[in-house]
Order: sequence, then C-alpha cells, then structure tokens
Amino acid sequence: MRTAEVVIIGGGCVGTSVAYHLAALGCTDVVLLEEGELGGGSTSKAAGGIRLQHADELNCRLVLRSLPEFTSFAELTGVPIDFKQVGYLFLLDRADDVAVFERAVRMQRDLGIPTETIDLDRARELVPPIRADDLLAATFCPWEGYAAPESVVQGYAAAARRLGVTVRTGCGVTGVRTAAGRVTGVDTAEGPIAARAVVCAAGVGSAEIARQAGYDLPVHGEARWIHFSGADGGVPAHAPLTIDFSTGFYFHREGPGLLFGGRERTLEDLALPAVRRLPAIADLPIGSSWWGFYDMSPDHNAMIGAAPVEGLYYATGFSGHGFQQSPAVGEHLAELILDREPTLDLTPLSADRFRRGMSRAEKVVI
Ligand SMILES: Cc1cc2nc3c(=O)[nH]c(=O)nc-3n(C[C@H](O)[C@H](O)[C@H](O)COP(=O)(O)OP(=O)(O)OC[C@H]3O[C@@H](n4cnc5c(N)ncnc54)[C@H](O)[C@@H]3O)c2cc1C
Repeated sequence: MRTAEVVIIGGGCVGTSVAYHLAALGCTDVVLLEEGELGGGSTSKAAGGIRLQHADELNCRLVLRSLPEFTSFAELTGVPIDFKQVGYLFLLDRADDVAVFERAVRMQRDLGIPTETIDLDRARELVPPIRADDLLAATFCPWEGYAAPESVVQGYAAAARRLGVTVRTGCGVTGVRTAAGRVTGVDTAEGPIAARAVVCAAGVGSAEIARQAGYDLPVHGEARWIHFSGADGGVPAHAPLTIDFSTGFYFHREGPGLLFGGRERTLEDLALPAVRRLPAIADLPIGSSWWGFYDMSPDHNAMIGAAPVEGLYYATGFSGHGFQQSPAVGEHLAELILDREPTLDLTPLSADRFRRGMSRAEKVVI
C-alpha cells in the first residue's frame, strides 16, 4: 500500500493552501487528492472578494492574517493573483443594519482595521453611478479588494509541488479508513493510501467525507449565481467592491466590464434590487452567467479544526468566505497537524460547537 504522512482531500483554495503551508513548514510527505480539476469546485466560481468587514472578530482576524499572503502571493509562489486592493463599500438602508455595522466598525478599528463610516457624498464619489438617496449610511475599508481565485489555487499547488508535495487530479477519495478511533488512510479508485493524518477540505463534499470517518460535519451547498457584463455601466476602474447590504446585490469591475451577483437564483429576480441600486445596469449586455455552491454551515461561520477521530482534520462551511480566509486556514491546519503552537486560536470554530450549543452567528453575510 502507498503511504503518506498526510493526505489532503480537495484541491480548492483551502486544500492547496494546507498543502503549501505543510510543505513550507517542512512536511513534504503529503498527497493532495482532487477528484476533478484543481479549483474546479466552489473556488473557481467565487467573486474573489477579500474583506475585513465582518461582525465576528474571528473572521476579521482570519482575513487580517491572510492579507499579507495575498499581497505577497506572487513572490511566495511565482503566480500573480491580480489582487486589486480597492476596498469594499457597504451601502446600508436599514436602521437595524446600521446598528450592526456601527458595532462591527468599532470592533474592526480595535483590531487595527481602518474601516470608516463615510458620508453618502463620499460613497457617491467612490462609485458615481449608484443611487444613494435612500441610504442611511455607508462603510468603507481600503485594505479589502478582490483577486483571482483560480490563480491562488494554481499558485499554492505549484509552490507545494516544487517543495515536494504530490498533487493528483482526477483521483477521488471513495472512503476514509479508520481503526480504533483514528484515521489510518483513504481509499481511492487507484487504490488505498495509508496516512497518519487526513485533511477534509472537500468543500460541499466534506459532509460525505466526514461521514465515512464517523464524524458529522453539518455543511450543505447553497447555489449562488454570478453574472458578467463586458460593459462597465460607468463604474470606475478603481471603484471598491460595492455591496447593497439589505438585498445582497454586489458588483465589482472585472477587466473592461462588471461582475455582479446576489442572493437571487435568476437574473430576472436579481434585476429589481440591482436596478434600484445601480440603475445603469438595466442597459448592460450580459456576457455570461454561472453558479457555484456556497459551502454553508448552520451559523454561517466556518468549521475548522481537529475531529475527535484522531488524525482527521477539517476546514469547510465557509458560507461565502472561504477564499479570503484560505491562507490563514491553510496555515492553521498545517500547525495543528504538525503539533505547533497555532498562530490563531480557532478553537471556537470547531464543528463540535453545534453539539455543545455554542454556535456563533456571523451577522454580515452576503
Ligand atoms: C458565486 C460564489 C461567490 C463567492 N464569492 C466569494 C468571495 O467573494 N469571497 C470569498 O472569500 N468566498 C467566496 N465564495 C466562497 C468560496 O468560493 C468558498 O468558500 C471556497 O472556494 C471554498 O474553498 P474549498 O477549497 O473549501 O472548496 P472547493 O473550492 O469546493 O474545493 C473542494 C474540492 O474538493 C473536491 N472534492 C470533493 N469531494 C472529493 C472527494 N471525495 N475526493 C477528492 N476530491 C473531492 C472538489 O472537487 C473540489 O474541487 C463564493 C462562492 C460562490 C459560489
């Protein structure tokens, strides 16, 4: 039987980040198994947003820790990720949302994040074509932005390979082997691999992987659509990623055009909130549309940690935030697996919180 110290299941931004961080810490006897193509799951469907404006402090800390890796990604891995650090602009038109954001901005500033509540003239200056007459407030943080998720996957995978990690695509895991309360390896269509540690980074497939190991990871897929127009609707090239918070409609510049999405399943349903906030969008041609799964957890916060089944590690349930957190999550799992002092204390994000009645809801969810 083949052996590896660590088997990673899933070649999205999270699995490849774990592979890279393990190798960077000196653990290179690692096999990453991806049933399809690298990045072919949720990662390649994502809008690429990297934001610090969360209501849960741990989400802010995860992205704060990830930010330097995004800004120096090309030097680290050799692959540029086109990180446009143009900020996020949240538009608020409900008093209860304003209260949530006021608390969140205070918490963010205590962490050293330069989020500001800005007046509506400044919001219009940043994104001239928005309709702002019904808004109550807006917040802006210049450290945020968006990058190319597929490039992040390719960069991590290339760097991990260079350091000695084996990356196998087209090789799905069909079973997780356990004995006496610990994992002993995995089964694949190409035969079993014995391993001391198995990492479940299988996105919406994580519930099934965990079940095979006798563990419960309550993650489920929620379909989200994104649309691209080759025209920009008057949105300036350096405009922030803009979010109409009460409806979830968001947009950012993408090359010569505009990328936009929301919670609605059809373009027809999205049209109402979209045109209300960005009237020019009504006249834009649609170039393409696609969908992917948000990997949802019951409280909209990630599940990250070591399972009670010894040797099983997991990271999933990111609920729309997995791309922006992937550097810090990869680092954290590598530290846990190698028995190092974790840089971040993420024990509150253990999936066991649901059994212990300790769920922690993230309120700023798009
Ligand atoms: C429309 C949309 C917009 C988004 N926008 C953002 C955003 O702006 N910012 C942000 O941070 N996040 C965003 N997200 C969320 C983000 O895409 C995910 O949280 C993130 O990609 C999760 O990464 P992952 O590596 O955990 O999962 P995935 O990318 O899904 O990777 C898991 C991989 O595991 C593989 N796999 C599954 N089962 C097996 C098996 N049995 N054997 C081997 N391989 C297996 C899959 O093929 C897949 O490639 C968005 C998501 C969507 C759908």
